[in-house]
Amino acid sequence: MNEFPNKVAKLCIEKYNALKKTGKPTDIEWTILSGILLKTECGSLSVVSLATGTKCLGESELVKTTRCEKGCRLSDSHAEVLTRRAFLRYLYDQIDIVLSGSRSKILFLNKENKLEIYPNVSFHFFSSQSPCGDCSIFPKDNIEEECPAKIRKITCADKDKLTLELHGNDKNSDIYRTGAKCLKIEKLQDPKLPGVDYHITGPLRTKPGRGDPTLSLSCSDKMAKWNMIGVQGSLLSLLISQIKLESITIGGGCPFSLEAMERGLCKRFSSKLHVPKIFQADIAFAQRKGGKRINPCPSSIIWCAVRKSDIEIAVQGRKQGATKKRKGHNLLVSKRALLETCLKICDKYKNIKTDISHPKKITYYDCKRWSVQYQSAWKQLKKEFFSSWPDKPLYLQDFIL
Ligand SMILES: [Zn+2]
Repeated sequence: MNEFPNKVAKLCIEKYNALKKTGKPTDIEWTILSGILLKTECGSLSVVSLATGTKCLGESELVKTTRCEKGCRLSDSHAEVLTRRAFLRYLYDQIDIVLSGSRSKILFLNKENKLEIYPNVSFHFFSSQSPCGDCSIFPKDNIEEECPAKIRKITCADKDKLTLELHGNDKNSDIYRTGAKCLKIEKLQDPKLPGVDYHITGPLRTKPGRGDPTLSLSCSDKMAKWNMIGVQGSLLSLLISQIKLESITIGGGCPFSLEAMERGLCKRFSSKLHVPKIFQADIAFAQRKGGKRINPCPSSIIWCAVRKSDIEIAVQGRKQGATKKRKGHNLLVSKRALLETCLKICDKYKNIKTDISHPKKITYYDCKRWSVQYQSAWKQLKKEFFSSWPDKPLYLQDFIL
């Protein structure tokens, strides 16, 4: 029954294991592994992007961003977010293949010279654990649900037994917690009471940083957005239509609730939204949190199936080994590098399709605005479901190449 999710998990973990060791967790570190897989028309499944990561930069770190570092530094290095960025690189590479006259497994130029995704191609998401934020809030399975009362009386000291009898089942019921905090602007806030009343569900949340608030929304929120507007983002929307994830598989050996996943990704916004297929695999990622692995791994590895495929290692949102003196040493999944790739492709496409042209010096922010259809769709979604979603600060977007 679990054949498909197990295949998804196995492929991602095998790909991870095949990559070189640099950037991977040590024996006492844990990380999250995410990947996007392609299912082709003939049904074959392969990993096209992969990333690990657990870190997010706080706002106080971001405001220190220097002029030449604008657009270079990643604020959000959670695996889910990095694997999407790597997927964007993969898509640009596929577009380039088609525009160069070669055949791609996923795209083709149709009769109107528009780039189109093959109808029976689909994309599938994997993550070794449930995404942070809303999808991670759900009741813990209580031992007493399965073996009522008995266990408690045997294992508890007399004093505790009395308390248990007074409070009944509630004393031991608890929920899994998330480090992501409700946005301050949200009307509902976590009560932070002991047990099941620690969190509420529904509001948008921001990721925790190092004791410092971050500007990055939780993975549950970001994935909910991708589920509604696609994973391609605004720049790629200039070239291709929406790409939605057909399924989401969570790795084995970690807390998982189908109900919480469906709520976090769709149902907390509207009962009418399309729910992707959601699974939990039996196969677990060995480098997940638990046991000896107590510290989050500070580095990330990022990989995608492009022609010149290689892994990138990121630490604190920068390419490993990059220093301020070594300019041009940027991550290929950074905003700046993706803008550069996008504009290059647009120039190439101009020869085929005449309505694509861009001004020579355009800021990242303006280039995103240029994607009119995507922007109006996002504006509509914000009005409907994401009214408290904050705008990204302009100082991180007003750079030119
Ligand atoms: Zn996350």
